[in-house]
Amino acid sequence: NIHGLAHAASGSIRVYCRVRPFLSGKSSYLSIVDSIEDGNITINIPSKNGKGCKSFTFNKVFGQSATQAEVFSDMQPLIRSVLDGYNVCIFAYGQTGSGKTYTMVGPKELTEKNQGVNYRALGDLFMLAEQRKDTFRYDVAVQMIEIYNEQVRDLLVTDGSNKRYPFLNSFGFVSYKVHLELHQELLDDLKIKDKMRNNTLEIRNSSQTGLNVPDANLMPVSSTSDVIYLMNLGQRNRAVGATALNDRSSRSHSCLTVHVQGRDLTTGTVLRGCMHLVDLAGSERVNKSEVTGDRLKEAQHINKSLSALGDVISSLAQRNPHVPYRNSKLTQLLQDSLGGQAKTLMFVHISPEPDALAETMSTLKFAERVA
Ligand code: ADP
Ligand code: MG
Repeated sequence: NIHGLAHAASGSIRVYCRVRPFLSGKSSYLSIVDSIEDGNITINIPSKNGKGCKSFTFNKVFGQSATQAEVFSDMQPLIRSVLDGYNVCIFAYGQTGSGKTYTMVGPKELTEKNQGVNYRALGDLFMLAEQRKDTFRYDVAVQMIEIYNEQVRDLLVTDGSNKRYPFLNSFGFVSYKVHLELHQELLDDLKIKDKMRNNTLEIRNSSQTGLNVPDANLMPVSSTSDVIYLMNLGQRNRAVGATALNDRSSRSHSCLTVHVQGRDLTTGTVLRGCMHLVDLAGSERVNKSEVTGDRLKEAQHINKSLSALGDVISSLAQRNPHVPYRNSKLTQLLQDSLGGQAKTLMFVHISPEPDALAETMSTLKFAERVA
């Protein structure tokens, strides 16, 4: 039984909400958030006859002053359960600019203090694996893919131009050269794998290997520095698409999948768990009269996949026997990590500015539906 402990408890769906702070220059605004208390958030809604309010309840709400460390500490038990053989999905949902990438990755200038969930999650996995090394042997490998216009693309690819990019030195890397030496092996490995890779990847649900996108590069990692290297590569590949030079990261879903395999050193039992860390495309509605062509097509694909995700999670929450996984690439990809014993965290993000009120309300309503 490869799933081992996974049968010990039932799966779960949790919903968190985070309010981004005001960005510099906008601090004179009055926040649309009236109050936050435990899992409740109350939004001010201006109306003709004065002020109206609407409250929403989630498992947890983080206000503007919440730190990356505080946010992560509430997610730690979920991440730890991957080592016990559970499948976990964490989604960052919200309109463009609401702070999804900040939560999952961090700001552009990364430091140890402001790094996001992805880095911290991997750091925790390595730390726990080390603590358990007398009883378990863990192997960790990552994939990073993007879904854009319902097409799946590998983000862990090299195109020879990687040499030109300096790496973040906030983690203690003195220069690019030092980093490259450290990762020459990873880089060589990627180059070999790139040759075998297709541009548009197929999703195949394989319960045997646990790899749903078997053709995407699967990179073994054994330290946080390996992870930083690969995530930088993936983030860069996400920002500039193969066909479009403009930033399309807000119009694609990116998914960092961490595969963990643990062998019990005494019994030989193998546990397998995986964690999907998903930075979703911006949830904002576009005005059909304003966009046409490619932009409209993108918007329609995003709309379709986010509502398919909402449908899947809300039918799981309602214990509906029919779960409509087949309606989007995203839900197909994550099918065996949504429902059953798997654990899901929908993390919605909102902006505090009054001019974002309509989008904020639609984000909160989406979250309420899946909670
Ligand atoms: P999204 O990924 O949802 O489009 P970003 O994560 O890129 O949004 O956030 C938009 C801007 O706001 C970025 O400059 C980001 O660094 C900043 N930001 C977002 N959330 C926070 C936060 N909690 N604290 C400080 N800055 C934040
Ligand atoms: Mg983003």
